[in-house]
Amino acid sequence: MIYTNVCKHCHKVFKSKIRTMSCNNCRNEDSDILDDIVQYLKLYPNSNALQISEELCIHPYVIIKYMDEGWLGEAHGEFSKLPD
Ligand SMILES: [Zn+2]
Repeated sequence: MIYTNVCKHCHKVFKSKIRTMSCNNCRNEDSDILDDIVQYLKLYPNSNALQISEELCIHPYVIIKYMDEGWLGEAHGEFSKLPD
């Protein structure tokens, strides 16, 4: 499933695998990023940080930071950390 989205910041139309409010250029707001990660993990619960980062254009360390803060703990059970 591919969704067509309109960015709420710059109003660019773009496609993605999840419904999201921000294009990759405007993906600066933490709440948007977190929402997108949670949505992605619902669709693809076995994704690791690297896969999520590639799909959503988010830096892996941002995803790992949310993991460490406990935001993503209930969404899945197999979230693997990247090697340093
Ligand atoms: Zn935008």
